[in-house]
Amino acid sequence: MKNILIFITLFTIAGCNLDFGSDMPWDKGTWVDLTWDFEESTTYWPTNITFSHDTVSYGINDKGYFYSSFFYAAEEHGGTHFDAPLHFAENGRSIEQILPEEFTGEGVCVDVSENAFINRDYLASVNDFKKWEKQYGRIPDRAIVLLRTGFGKFWGDPLKYTGTLKQGPQGVAELHFPGLDPEAAEWLVKERNIKAFGLDTPSIDRGQSTEFMTHRILFSHDVTAYENIAHLELVPPRDFYVVAAPMKIKGDSGAPLRLMVWIPKK
Ligand SMILES: [Zn+2]
Repeated sequence: MKNILIFITLFTIAGCNLDFGSDMPWDKGTWVDLTWDFEESTTYWPTNITFSHDTVSYGINDKGYFYSSFFYAAEEHGGTHFDAPLHFAENGRSIEQILPEEFTGEGVCVDVSENAFINRDYLASVNDFKKWEKQYGRIPDRAIVLLRTGFGKFWGDPLKYTGTLKQGPQGVAELHFPGLDPEAAEWLVKERNIKAFGLDTPSIDRGQSTEFMTHRILFSHDVTAYENIAHLELVPPRDFYVVAAPMKIKGDSGAPLRLMVWIPKK
């Protein structure tokens, strides 16, 4: 009897493992790329050096075969990019120290576009997240929270996207786009223990912010952030998997990000 029980137990464990493997829906779902192209017109902060891209070689070389190679350069915080805690926390971690399990995981997407289209300076509030939870359930522990302000649809039109065409400090003063209320940042960290937060504007603090409290709160708690996210209109409210893999630049406070979500087919 004892032997039979051991056999059943082992069989069950093995069976579970096999079932787990064969049940993974790797081929049943869709990858959605939430990354904008990096190019010379890519939106950067008004005081930043923008993305430059040059041809080093292109064409048939003197040995008779085709060869191409290019040069690129930019500041860290433009286009679809990743913010490491070091961005606003003196002893915070830099990009290369963020582990894969910290930039991958279960995601939720909260849509505040209706309010943000009425008011460009809209701050997503604790109430917005509570309202979302009433409809879709509690935000899971260690979730990657994406905020859809709808401003992604203005990408490519910097005046509509950021509120200004001016560069330098004058441009910074005229930035108008929505962001995350610092109070909500605090709530997401303390009450929901989130892993990361991202949105479809140039900054997680709204354009008119001067103190950048949302950045400071999240990064002092070692939470990471993504900015200038593309195509959030294609992302469901919950039940998707996020991969947010930044370029691994040692010591950096931010880096270009290839952001994607896997949406399983139900
Ligand atoms: Zn940034």
